[in-house]
Amino acid sequence: MTTCNSITLERSTNGQRKNFLEMAEENVCASCSAPCCRVLLVPHPTPATFMDLDYIRYVVGFHGAQMILNSDGRWQLLIEQACRLLDQETNLCTVHATPRQPKTCVFFNPYRCWYKRNFDKREKPPELIRIDMDRLEAILPHVRFDEDGNVLDIPKWEVIREL
Ligand code: SF4
Ligand code: SF4
Repeated sequence: MTTCNSITLERSTNGQRKNFLEMAEENVCASCSAPCCRVLLVPHPTPATFMDLDYIRYVVGFHGAQMILNSDGRWQLLIEQACRLLDQETNLCTVHATPRQPKTCVFFNPYRCWYKRNFDKREKPPELIRIDMDRLEAILPHVRFDEDGNVLDIPKWEVIREL
């Protein structure tokens, strides 16, 4: 019988292996375009009626406004405006580690960064669909309503992604 002093977990590592100290010294944000500071996301209710969808149609008419449909079904409003505390040249926060930095930013975990996974140099985000005016116009003909204007049928996420 052989004994083993370490357990190897099967994960994709892209050929990179780092020890704990190397991980601790690394700044995981260093090579990132900082989408966390360049887009604002606001929770939005799931559209349930004709007027809900009409409101979304109104919203995406504004420059810099899009809707996000997450793969778990959540909707969000996305506003493409950088935080005014971001240094746009360096991608660094100008109030980092000062009392002016919001705790929302201070306690954000970059090791599980949803922003990086979906916005950093990504043509096709894996976990969400960005819905701009043109994409919404492609989706709307596939939505069905009852006679009171309630949504009866809306395409599944995978179908919307193809649309
Ligand atoms: S928190 Fe995420 S999106 Fe922001 S700079 Fe770090 S890795 Fe990039
Ligand atoms: S306060 Fe700093 S970390 Fe937070 S969003 Fe603005 S630039 Fe980014």
